[in-house]
Amino acid sequence: MNEAVTEGLFIHITGIVQGVGFRPFVYELATRNKLTGWVRNTSGGVEIEVNGTSESLTRMLAGLRSELPPLARIDTLETRECIPGDFDSFNIIESQFSEGDFIPVSPDVSICQDCQNELFDPNDRRYRYPFINCTNCGPRFSIVKDIPYDRPNTTMAAFQLCSQCNEEYTNPTNRRFHAQPIACPDCGPFISFEENGKTVASKEDALNLARHALRNGQIIAVKGLGGFHLACDASNQRAVELLRDRKKRSDKPFALMAFDLATVEKHCSVSKMERSLLLDRRRPIVLLQRKEDSPISRAVAPNQSTLGFMIAYTPLHLLLLEPEPGYPDAFVMTSGNLSEEPIAYDDADAKFRLNPLADAFLLHNRPIHMRVDDSVVRGLNDDFTIIRRSRGYAPNPIILPTKLPPILACGAELKNTFGLSRDNYAFISHHIGDLENFETLNSFEQGIIHYERLFKIKPEVIATDLHPDYLSTRYGLARAKQENLPAFSIQHHHAHITSVMADNGWNSDQPVIGLSYDGTGMGTDGQIWGGEILVCTYGSFQRKFHLRYIPLPGGDVSIRKPARMALAQLWEAGIAWNDDLVPVKFLSMEEKKAIRFQLDNEKNAPKTSSMGRLFDAASALLGVCQVATYEGQAAIELESIVDKKETEEYEFNISEDEINPAPMWEELLRDLFSGTPIPALAARFHNSIARLSLKTCQSIRSELGYNTVALSGGVWQNMILLERTKFLLSQDGFDVLVHHQLPTNDGGIALGQLMIASAAYTNQGKV
Ligand code: ZN
Ligand code: ZN
Ligand code: FE
Repeated sequence: MNEAVTEGLFIHITGIVQGVGFRPFVYELATRNKLTGWVRNTSGGVEIEVNGTSESLTRMLAGLRSELPPLARIDTLETRECIPGDFDSFNIIESQFSEGDFIPVSPDVSICQDCQNELFDPNDRRYRYPFINCTNCGPRFSIVKDIPYDRPNTTMAAFQLCSQCNEEYTNPTNRRFHAQPIACPDCGPFISFEENGKTVASKEDALNLARHALRNGQIIAVKGLGGFHLACDASNQRAVELLRDRKKRSDKPFALMAFDLATVEKHCSVSKMERSLLLDRRRPIVLLQRKEDSPISRAVAPNQSTLGFMIAYTPLHLLLLEPEPGYPDAFVMTSGNLSEEPIAYDDADAKFRLNPLADAFLLHNRPIHMRVDDSVVRGLNDDFTIIRRSRGYAPNPIILPTKLPPILACGAELKNTFGLSRDNYAFISHHIGDLENFETLNSFEQGIIHYERLFKIKPEVIATDLHPDYLSTRYGLARAKQENLPAFSIQHHHAHITSVMADNGWNSDQPVIGLSYDGTGMGTDGQIWGGEILVCTYGSFQRKFHLRYIPLPGGDVSIRKPARMALAQLWEAGIAWNDDLVPVKFLSMEEKKAIRFQLDNEKNAPKTSSMGRLFDAASALLGVCQVATYEGQAAIELESIVDKKETEEYEFNISEDEINPAPMWEELLRDLFSGTPIPALAARFHNSIARLSLKTCQSIRSELGYNTVALSGGVWQNMILLERTKFLLSQDGFDVLVHHQLPTNDGGIALGQLMIASAAYTNQGKV
C-alpha cells in the first residue's frame, strides 16, 4: 500500500512575478520535485497547475516562498485542489491576457554580480558591453511602455535579437530566459561620444574619450538609466565650482558616485546599515558622514558634514568609473537639468537643454520611456529613512490595510509625487519634483497618464491638497470637473499623518496623536500651518495644539531669508533686535525698516504656525544660515553642527492649544550672549522641541487615553530631532509610528490623500 497517490493542485500568484525570472524558477522547482503540469503568465499574475504526490506538492509550495528569485515578490498565493491532468512533463506555456487585469511592474534595479563578473571577463561575449543584463537585473520601469511586460512593449522593441541572444532568451534554464532587455554587442544598443553637436566616437572609443574628459576636469552629460547626469571629478575644485555656476545652483549638495564600496569608505564613514543600503540592488544615494581628510571638494556639499554617495549601478557607470592609476575615484553625478527643472531623459531635449552645461555628451541609443531620478536615503541606527523615493523603489506599490476604490491623489506642490489606488495597492509615483514650472507640470501630467495605463486604473474619485493654488490642485479640480468625478480637498497635515498611519498598515478607527512638523500647509482657517499636534483617524482630524502664529514679513521672501524669520520671532516674543545678533547685522537698514513696518502694521505679513520656520529662525539667530537657496537649508545646516553630547533644554509655554516659543528664545539668547558654544545651543534647541512634543502628547493621553504617536512632515528628516523625540516618547510608553516606505516630506503625502479620500467617499458628506 505504499503506492503514492497523484494529486492535482492549481496555484494563482499575484505580486512582482513577471520579468523577474519567475517562470524559469517555477519550472526548475517543479522539475526538481518531479512534478508535471504547466506555468503561465496572465495579465493578473502567474498561474500554475501541478500533479504529484502530496509530499512533493508541499515541497513545491514551500519552495515558492523560500527560494524566490531576488527581484520577485509574492503579494498573494491562492491554491485549490483539482483533478490531476494528463501531463507527462512540466512546461512553460503561452501567456494568457484579459482586458482590465493588471500586475505591478518591477522597478529598475542595479546590475547583478553575475553580470558584473561577465562584464569584466575577457572571455565572455559581453565583455565590456555597457548594456549587459539578465532576468535578475537591469532596466525595467524606465523602459516599459505598457503591460504585459514583453519586449515589444519596451523601448528595446527596435533591437532585433541575434541568434545567440535568441537562444538564451528562449531557454528556460538560461539566466536570460525572457530577460526582456537582453542584448549583446552584436544586436543591442551602443554608446557614442558627442562634442560640439557632432558624434566623434562610438563604443569603446567613446568610453575612452569620456574618461579622458573626466580626468581633465571637464563636465560631461551622461545618459544613464532613468535620465541624464552631469558628471565631473568630485575632487577637482575648479570643475565642481564650474558645474555649480553653470547649473545655477549655489548650495544644494551634489550627489556622488563611486565604483565600489571600498572607494566610498575612503571618503566617508559607513555603518553596517549604510553599507547594506549602498549595496542594495536599488542603489540609492546614501547620505554619509564625510571623513575630514577626504580630498572631495567642499563645493560638493557646502556647509554640510554629509556627502550623498551611490555605487555605480549600471554596466555603463562601472565602465566609466573603473579604477585606474591617476584616474579620479569619486564623481559628481548630479541630475542633468538646470536648477529646478526636471531631469532630462529624451536625447533631443537633453542635447538642447544641457548643451550650455556640459562640455561633451556620452550617449546611447536605448530610449528612456519614463524619467526616474536617483533615490535618496539616510541610515538611522538599525533603520533607514527614504528622503526621495524614485529609481529602484517606484513603482512598487504600497500594500494597503484595506481595499480602496480607484482614486487619484494629486499630491502637494514641492517634491511632488502622485498616487493611484486599486484594491489593496497604492501606486505612489516616482519623484516628480517641484511643481513650479511648465516642464515639471508636464512631467506630472504625463506620469499620471502612464501610471493609469500601466496599472489599468480609471479614477472614480480625485483627491487634492486644500491649497487652491497648487498646480497639482488645479489639475485635480479641472479633471474632476471634466470627468464629473467627486473631488476632495484635503488638509495637508491630516494627509501627512494618515500617510504615516497607512505606511505602517494602521487598520483601525482608533485615533492616533499626530505630530505634523512641516514647512507649510494650508490650514482650515486659511493660515499657513506646520507645527501641528493633531488627533487623527482616516476620516477626520482635530487640531489639539499648534505653534503660536507668527507673521511672515513679506510672505515668501521670508521663507528664502531665515534672517527675516529670526527678526519676526523676536518681534513676536517682544525681544529687541540687538545689533550684536548675526541676522540683525546681516540685514540692511532699509530691509529692517521694511520688516518693522510689515510687522507693526500687519501689512503683507501672512501668519504661520510652521515648525520649519521656527528652525529657520533658530538657524539664523545662531549665525548658521541667513539666506536659504534650497528648501530646508537652514535646518539642515543647523542639524549638522549639533553637539550630540549636550543634554540641556529650554522651556516652551504651552497653553490651552498654543505653543509659545518666547521663553525659549529668551533663554537661548541669554546663553548666546554669555558665550555658550553654538553647537551646544543648537543641541538645546533640538532637545527643547523633542521635550515639547512629549509634553503635548502626555497632555492628550491624559485627556483622551490615546497612546500611539505618528510622526510626519518634512521637519522629521532631521535625524537628531527624530531620534531624540522617538526616545522620549518610547521611554514614556508611547508607540511611535514613523515612515518606512515613503518619505516623511511632501513626497509621501499622496498616500494620506488616498486614505482620506477613500474614507470621505465611503461616508459621503461626513468630512
Ligand atoms: Zn544580471
Ligand atoms: Zn545579441
Ligand atoms: Fe508638507
